[in-house]
Amino acid sequence: KIIVIGSSNTDMVVRVPKLPLPGETVLGGDFLMNLGGKGANQAVTTARLACPTVFISKVGEDVFGRMALEQFDKEGIQTDFVFTDSQHPSGVALINVDRRGENCISVASGANASLLPADIDKAAAVFGSDDIILMQLEIPLQTIEYVVNKFHKTGATIMLNPAPATQINIETLRNITIITPNETEVETITGVCVQTEEGLREAASTLKETGIKNVVITRGAKGAYVLSDEFEGIVPAQKVKAVDTTAAGDCFNGALAVALLEQKTLKSAVEFANKAAALAVQKMGAQSSIPYRRELDI
Ligand code: ADP
Repeated sequence: KIIVIGSSNTDMVVRVPKLPLPGETVLGGDFLMNLGGKGANQAVTTARLACPTVFISKVGEDVFGRMALEQFDKEGIQTDFVFTDSQHPSGVALINVDRRGENCISVASGANASLLPADIDKAAAVFGSDDIILMQLEIPLQTIEYVVNKFHKTGATIMLNPAPATQINIETLRNITIITPNETEVETITGVCVQTEEGLREAASTLKETGIKNVVITRGAKGAYVLSDEFEGIVPAQKVKAVDTTAAGDCFNGALAVALLEQKTLKSAVEFANKAAALAVQKMGAQSSIPYRRELDI
């Protein structure tokens, strides 16, 4: 199975003719509310791609937390370890989007910031040696480090999608199995510019030299660059007309985990992830654009 450990947010979106300036009020279009958060998006992906999925997350004791839990149930995600925090509200993202698609976002992490090592201990019995553990950076770093240190010797595959871009000390995470930054994230972590193939190679090697076995750098419409013992090179993206790339990375990561759980080689797992993400970018929205297994004929 796949164990996703990460954030759950409610995205509140207003389309506006122009982004408001400080002190300004702008009248916009209809209000839209969607479930989001990188953890939740990736858990929805693995569930829709037909993998048994356990989600470890934290929501508040409020209407948003209850709605999120209901939605996870509908998706077939196991929610025994989606904890409810009575001290903090659920995570919320307030999003303004203008006519050109430019946005302005503020996130209140709320309960996500209190998903701590003690919560991982409460869920310890669920972790198995054949599992894939998938994490991102919208929960406390100490929790991620705790998971890596506690489970890397069990045989489980540990994947980290280091998003959003954060300057982390990668040395403390050298025992993860696969790291999957996008171009901005890898530049933030390594300080190496990846606009050339030489730069890509250098940044990926910097990560691999810490001890991380597999590096996958996602590159939007250019696909993904892979550095591992079994394969090195670019795996091209599908040629499609993108209408909304929100959650493309989340879909890619969820799909990559699914393919690896199914024992595909890293290269063919990346091909599968490119296909899934290409389906997602052709539809509007975040979770609503994530494909189901039947849409991928492999
Ligand atoms: P993020 O969404 O995290 O910024 P990327 O932009 O690198 O991540 O996109 C993740 C993956 O989504 C890519 O590796 C690719 O497979 C797919 N993808 C993104 N944009 C496109 C596009 N325009 N056409 C085809 N595939 C895309």
